[in-house]
Amino acid sequence: KRLMEPRSRADKVRTTMFFSALSMLLSAAFAAPLAIVMKWNILETVVPAAVIPLLIAPWMIWIMADVTIRLFQAQEQLEQIARTDPLTGALNRRGTQELLTKAFARRHDESGFCAIVLDIDNFKTVNDSYGHAGGDAVIVHVAAVMRMVFDREDCHIARFGGDELGVLMPFLSIAEATLAAEHLRAAIERTPIVFGDRHITITASIGVAELLPGDESADFMLMRADASLYSAKMLGRNIVRADRLRSAA
Ligand code: GH3
Ligand code: MG
Repeated sequence: KRLMEPRSRADKVRTTMFFSALSMLLSAAFAAPLAIVMKWNILETVVPAAVIPLLIAPWMIWIMADVTIRLFQAQEQLEQIARTDPLTGALNRRGTQELLTKAFARRHDESGFCAIVLDIDNFKTVNDSYGHAGGDAVIVHVAAVMRMVFDREDCHIARFGGDELGVLMPFLSIAEATLAAEHLRAAIERTPIVFGDRHITITASIGVAELLPGDESADFMLMRADASLYSAKMLGRNIVRADRLRSAA
C-alpha cells in the first residue's frame, strides 16, 4: 500500500525504485519472446529494451509520487482546518464531535472522561464597550489561558461557538476536573486582557461533568456540563459548578 501511496521521501525513493525495476523487467520480458519470433539477436534486443525504460520511468514515477504526497498533505491540512476554530485554534464543534465519538468508543479503557463548559460572563458588555475586535481579543485570551491551565497533551480545548468554550479531559476524575476548572476560573479573573492601551478584566462561569456508565453518548456529559454552567450563571456568575461530585464523595 505504501508503494502505491507514498507518504515520505523514503517511500518516494522505494516507489520509484520498485516501479522502475518493474518497468525494466516487463519491457525485457516482452522483448525476449519478440526477439525469438523475429529471429533477432536476443542480447542486442533485450538489453536496450531493459535500459530504455530506465531513461524515462524513474522521472515519471518520481513526479507522480511527489504529486501523491502533496495531495495527501493537502487533504490532511484540509481535515485539520475543518476541525479547527480559526479565531482560537481550538477544536470547533465538528472537531469536538469527532473527538467525543472516539472517546466514547474507548470509554471502557479509560479511567475517566470529563468535560468543562465555560461561558464568558457579560460578554455582550465587552463587545459593546470595546467593539467586536475587543470581544475577539477576549475570546483568544481565554482560549490561551485554558491552554496554559490544561497544559497536557491529552486535554483538548474546544470552542463551541460565540463566547462558549470547553475542555475535554480523558483520564481525569470529576474531582480533579473541578479543581482544574477552579484554577482556570481564578486565572481568568486575575489576568486582564491588554487591548491597545486598555485593560479588559473579565470573569467566566464554568460547568463540569463526567461521562457516566449509563450515558448513551458523550453528548449526555456535555448536556450535564451545560446544565451545571447554567446553574453557575444563576448563582451569580464567576463560579464553577460540578454535576454531582461522585468521585469526590
Ligand atoms: P452571560 O453572562 O449570561 O453569558 O451574558 P453574555 O452577555 O455573555 O451573554 P451571551 O453569552 O449570550 O453572549 C454571547 C454574545 O457573544 C452574543 C454575541 O454578540 C457575541 N458573539 C458571538 N460570537 C462572537 C465572536 O466571534 N466575536 C465576538 N466579539 N462576539 C461574539
Ligand atoms: Mg456569555
